Amino acid sequence: MAYQSTNPYDGKVLQTFEQISDAQLEEKLTQAASCFESDWRHKSFAERAAVLARAATLLRERSQAFAELITLEMGKLIAQSLGEVALSAAILDYYAENAERFLAPEKLSTPRGEALVESSPIGVLFGVEPWNYPYYQIARFAAPNLMAGNVVMVKHASSVPQCAQAFERLMIDAGAPAGAYTNLFISKEQVAQVIDDARIRAVALTGSEAAGAVVAARAGQNLKKTTMELGGSDAFIVLDDADLDKAVKSAVSGRMGNSGQACTASKRIIVVDSMADRFLEKFQAALENFQPGDPMDKQTTLAPLSSADALKNLLGQVEGAVAGGARVLTGGGRIAGQAGAFMQPTILTDIDKGNPAYMQEFFGPVALFFRVADEDAAVALANDSPFGLGGSVFTQDIERGKRLARRIDTGMVFINSGASSSPELPFGGVKNSGYGRELSGAGIQEFVNKKLIRVS
Ligand code: NDP
Repeated sequence: MAYQSTNPYDGKVLQTFEQISDAQLEEKLTQAASCFESDWRHKSFAERAAVLARAATLLRERSQAFAELITLEMGKLIAQSLGEVALSAAILDYYAENAERFLAPEKLSTPRGEALVESSPIGVLFGVEPWNYPYYQIARFAAPNLMAGNVVMVKHASSVPQCAQAFERLMIDAGAPAGAYTNLFISKEQVAQVIDDARIRAVALTGSEAAGAVVAARAGQNLKKTTMELGGSDAFIVLDDADLDKAVKSAVSGRMGNSGQACTASKRIIVVDSMADRFLEKFQAALENFQPGDPMDKQTTLAPLSSADALKNLLGQVEGAVAGGARVLTGGGRIAGQAGAFMQPTILTDIDKGNPAYMQEFFGPVALFFRVADEDAAVALANDSPFGLGGSVFTQDIERGKRLARRIDTGMVFINSGASSSPELPFGGVKNSGYGRELSGAGIQEFVNKKLIRVS
């Protein structure tokens, strides 16, 4: 598991990083545990908030440099990288401002005496994080948990080591004591050792189902709580009374944002029959308009995938779908003449239940298009998935949209937009998309001890 920065636009290796030794890992665990016990857990909310707010300010002041690192390491369009930096700063500020309120002691009404529930930190937390939003993913893990008084250790994806280091540096520059936030360049074996370590009290992972299953099982053996933010195959439902242009525009950004590499991307486009032809014509035209190029160039509209391997996997999935009977309406292959990991924006139709694609997540610019008879068929198809992360419903009748939203088995449903993330909105899923919530008031409650204090 070598930590290596490779620019997916041209395949150039930018920098490699050594994994740390077991002795270095031990030092870092000791430092984190001692920071928790002797320092961070005793700080006031105001003191912790000062560090997080300073980190948010620094992120904004240095946003161009932070954004360029994302674009260099995983290929995101620079405008989207800047957006991610701004969102990460907003998350830090949000918890700096609201954590004390979220964790305020709660007085219970009880027939006799007095009862209070207080929230206290539980210790050192371990996060395993993915490359697709290299700062946002760690901000939404670190910010609430640091504000709760826990300290965090992060094993970031091996393809974004520069972003991983930059975030650790940011926290130190913002005044976090050594051990409050620790980046770990460690192997998979060391991930297991960290989970086993008695000083680690809980584990959070964002990534694939495969990684989630391994990490959750290990934590389970150790009786440690976990949260899991895994894959998704969000349904994007367009009903007969939808605003067609708005729906098409949202489907395009929902499927193409981050080059399609988002867990909540609009992966299954489900349109009722009466709208399907008109929708598909506009959707196809829009996807064919994307222009590949250097993601650092503001004019580029189509970024490469995060790595050559990601492209290979996606091409394999498209091949499997076609072998299973799907039709390629547009795209379907890599973009010729580009050195980088560029995938053509693709639409697959005629995907039957027996097709492997029917149940798969496509992590890239490949839309699975389904035509259905009506609203009920749309809901049935949306729910016929191992995943349950997000979803969208397009209708001009908001009450109808809400009724439909209640029937969709996911953690989030967006009416008249693609999925989005914001500090104040809970994020997470059900089924194979995982469990637990990040962000909002819910996100800060996952790893605290809700301690009852009873006075008789
Ligand atoms: P992974 O799940 O493999 O990577 C996510 C994180 O988990 C990385 O830090 C990775 O480390 C680590 N990891 C992976 N396997 C193990 C393991 N056995 N033990 C310990 N740590 C592990 O994601 P990929 O990059 O491989 O992406 C593949 C798929 O994951 C995508 O197609 C998508 O389905 C899903 N995904 C979902 C995301 C989401 O936001 N929910 C984000 C990214 C991916 P390392 O990088 O060193 O392997």
